[in-house]
Amino acid sequence: DSPSVRRHQDRLAAEGIDVVRVTYPDLIGTDRARDVLLEHLPSVCDHGLAFCRAVYHTSPQGDVVPVSGGLDAGLPDICVTPDLDTLVPLPWEPGVAACLGDVTDPATGLPAPESPRDLLRAVLDRCGQHGLRPVIGPELEYFLCEPAPGSPRGWRRYNDAQGVVYTAGLRADDDNHLLRTLRLLRTAELGVSSGNHEFDGGQFEINLTHSAALSAADRAFRFKSAIKEIARKEGRLATFMAKPFQDAGGSGFHLHLSCEDDGGTNVFDDPAAPYGLSATARHAVAGILAHAPALAALANPTVNSYKRFGPDTLAPWLIDWGLDNRSAMVRIPPERGSGSRLELRLGDASANPYLLIAGTLAAALLGVLAGEEPPAPLDGYGYDADRSAKLPATLSAALDALEADTALADVLGKDFTASYLTYKRNEVERFERHVTDWEFTEYAYHL
Ligand code: GLU
Ligand code: MG
Ligand code: MG
Repeated sequence: DSPSVRRHQDRLAAEGIDVVRVTYPDLIGTDRARDVLLEHLPSVCDHGLAFCRAVYHTSPQGDVVPVSGGLDAGLPDICVTPDLDTLVPLPWEPGVAACLGDVTDPATGLPAPESPRDLLRAVLDRCGQHGLRPVIGPELEYFLCEPAPGSPRGWRRYNDAQGVVYTAGLRADDDNHLLRTLRLLRTAELGVSSGNHEFDGGQFEINLTHSAALSAADRAFRFKSAIKEIARKEGRLATFMAKPFQDAGGSGFHLHLSCEDDGGTNVFDDPAAPYGLSATARHAVAGILAHAPALAALANPTVNSYKRFGPDTLAPWLIDWGLDNRSAMVRIPPERGSGSRLELRLGDASANPYLLIAGTLAAALLGVLAGEEPPAPLDGYGYDADRSAKLPATLSAALDALEADTALADVLGKDFTASYLTYKRNEVERFERHVTDWEFTEYAYHL
């Protein structure tokens, strides 16, 4: 309503804010936004902001992928309404506050069929119907790159030190990127709690506190934009690509998941049950294992994602679970009681947070509804392919698994799944038609 918009407007003006950046996630999780002068906020709240719906289907290289409702419909509008509850000043961009937008189809007034935020809401409604309130804690890894003029990619790793995991301070981060980033993000309402140097030179991890699932997805989505913007401010490139470098490990997007009942009690905990995990928790694990090949299509959404998987990577390769075991796809951290939870290590940093979380919750919910028990947990260091099935080896195989998994597709919605499959199959096709440097090196001189 208008008086409340005016109150926001007055408060922002008093804080020295003169621009509001209205952002929403597209299908692949890229942040799409328009910057609005503060004096126009009331009218934008009344009428919404128009964007081209094909933004959902436009690849990072600018191709509009022919998904229904895009080119075939004449590139119609979608309408984005600011969600003023999410307004927050951007600490690295003085004078600008950002807020998320909700996306509707102006023809129907309903949420746009491809809106990832609405997809997650729909999955959360399904969880709620079964008395489950998911709690999510996201952990994201990324690589920081420095300009490398004249090199083929134009960027190189910020540092190429070895064995720098948990090295704090200047030895692996001589410009204090991590320290500066943590301090900048303190006031960004992202729930950033801590950060550390990861295994490979130039690779960092930042942890966000746990919360209700929609807020966790919002924060992970906004966190990725924040890191990319802060890096640009430093003249650098931050990438959440799954496996950007041949000679370094990939970047994970680990998700910690538990569920509360309506009274706020963690229903994954049961000291009397096997492993101290309630039936709900065990069924959730079983569901995630059962639907893992299809879930990979959302958790590992690029052709590059599958190069992160493998034995001895700390990224998964097999569909398995273990008790405090980092070589398993699902790890049960050692805490119990209110801290009983699972950690899904499947996702890579390139995943759209909304889709990763929605897909994980859909798989867990299907497990709870089926009442299945998981197999025995992994014992010792994993990666024994005789013991457990492998994850899909390519995006194409994962997309086929998603199409075949009608139970998961039902929870995600048939329209969403169809659009996603069309978009991602087009991506695979574009990649397969592309002549890579590897091919030239492998074939040009010898054949
Ligand atoms: N970088 C690893 C991954 O891709 C995870 C390393 C860790 O356990 O922090 O998932
Ligand atoms: Mg890590
Ligand atoms: Mg982790």
